Amino acid sequence: ELTRLNAELEVVSRRDPLTGVGNRLRMEEDVQAISRDLERSGRTGALALVDVDHFKKYNDCFGHLAGDGVLRQIGSALGASLRAGDGVYRYGGEEFLLLLPGATVADAKAVIDRLNDAIAALGIVHPGNEPWGVITISAGIAPLGPGDADNWLRTADQALYRAKDAGRNATGLAERGMVRVLRRAA
Ligand code: GH3
Ligand code: MG
Ligand code: MG
Repeated sequence: ELTRLNAELEVVSRRDPLTGVGNRLRMEEDVQAISRDLERSGRTGALALVDVDHFKKYNDCFGHLAGDGVLRQIGSALGASLRAGDGVYRYGGEEFLLLLPGATVADAKAVIDRLNDAIAALGIVHPGNEPWGVITISAGIAPLGPGDADNWLRTADQALYRAKDAGRNATGLAERGMVRVLRRAA
C-alpha cells in the first residue's frame, strides 16, 4: 500500500493541477535528462515555448475562473498534439513548454501549426485579442543540441518575444543565430 501511494505521489507531485500537463519540477527533471542524453548520443531535438496572446485582457473581460477554463482547454490541445517521447509542461502562468527530442525545428513548427488549428477550432471568443476576436497563441521554437540547457530556453524565449513583437498569433523560429517570424492570417 505504501509503495502504491509513493508511486501515486511521484506522479501527482509532477503534474500541474489546473491543466494536467507536467509541472515545473517535471520539466526541470526532463530537461536535465534530455540534456544528458543529447550530450551522450549527439542526437538533437527542438523545443517550443507557447504563450497565450493578451491573456490578461481575457481575465479582465471574463474573470479568472473563465481564464482557468481556457488554460485547461489549451493544456488538453497541447497534450493531443504530441507523440510518444515528447513532453509538455506548464512553464508558469499562461506559458507552456514543449520538449521534442528527435524533432527538427521544422517538425516543431508543424506541431505548433496543428496546435494553432486546434485552438482556432475551439473558437474561444476574446474581443480584446484584435483582429482575431478569439483566443490565439504565440510560440518561440529553438533547436535542442549538446550544450547548456539554459541556452535552449533563452533562444526560444527570444523567438517568442519576436513573435509577440510582430503582432502576436505568430511563431518565431530560431535557427543558426537568426529568428524568422511567421504570422498567421487574420
Ligand atoms: P501577451 O500577449 O504579451 O502575452 O499579453 P498577456 O496579457 O497574455 O501577458 P501578461 O504577461 O501581461 O499577462 C499574463 C496574464 O496571465 C496575467 C495573469 O492574470 C494571467 N494568468 C497567469 N496565470 C493564470 C492562471 O493560472 N489563471 C488565470 N485565469 N490567469 C492566469
Ligand atoms: Mg506570458
Ligand atoms: Mg501572454
